[in-house]
Amino acid sequence: MSKVILITGGSRGIGRSAAVLAGARGWSVGVNYASNAAAADATVAAVQAAGGKAIAIAGDVADEAAIIAMFDATESAFGKIDGVVNNAGIVAPGSMLADMDIARMKRIFDINVLGAYLCAREAARRMSTSRGGRGGSLVNVSSAAARLGGPGEYVDYAGSKGAIDTLTIGLAKELGREGVRVNAIRPGLIETDIHASGGKPDRAQVLGVQTPIGRPGTADEVGESIVWLLSDASSYVTGAILDVTGGR
Ligand code: NAP
Repeated sequence: MSKVILITGGSRGIGRSAAVLAGARGWSVGVNYASNAAAADATVAAVQAAGGKAIAIAGDVADEAAIIAMFDATESAFGKIDGVVNNAGIVAPGSMLADMDIARMKRIFDINVLGAYLCAREAARRMSTSRGGRGGSLVNVSSAAARLGGPGEYVDYAGSKGAIDTLTIGLAKELGREGVRVNAIRPGLIETDIHASGGKPDRAQVLGVQTPIGRPGTADEVGESIVWLLSDASSYVTGAILDVTGGR
């Protein structure tokens, strides 16, 4: 069945891969991004080339009005939403907690936690069958950092992802009878631009060789898991937290 999907931070990295793989299934995708319109346009073209439909939607997930607008834009273009990928997330340069300022921590928690909770709320409002939705699947993108803790680099980021795991557990129970499944993916060391934004462009390469599989992962390897959780093939999976970490 063709699906309508919204992916926050869908223009680059893991979100982009999920968008293109969704396009390959013939699905319609709202590709949200923060500021890089050229990357979003390129992703829209890639989704279309893969066989799907897509629109680019600018909007910061730290802004409640922008979140509501990105859901509205997706539904105006394609109809009722069947799936949401809560993927937008940021890191900050590596630091001990003792040296972090409040502005950094607020930004991490505004985007990674509050943004994800508000997107999950909006997904629940629109997909729950008792509210007129047709059921669906919410996929939250957590991180292996949630269980590793991020010491010496970013315990703030790790804690923000711990919140995503807990959201997944609770919301899956809330929405089980609403036709809405809620799951999380915990990526490990994946080759995307996020590491450069944290000041270590080669982080995934350097640490990836220490994983049991012996290499970093690709965005497509995470995207495949996301699209499986969005699809009807995972119809009895809810409240699950899937590590995609090469065994790390
Ligand atoms: P990325 O390559 O840095 O891409 C980030 C994407 O999110 C871009 O599309 C960006 O849009 C968008 N974005 C950033 N801030 C946003 C905001 N405030 N509102 C809306 N969109 C925003 O990141 P990634 O590595 O693919 O990471 C995706 C998710 O996976 C994140 O939640 C991250 O924590 C998680 N994760 C990644 C790894 C890894 O190793 N890569 C590991 C574990 C977990 P612009 O292009 O406009 O900036």
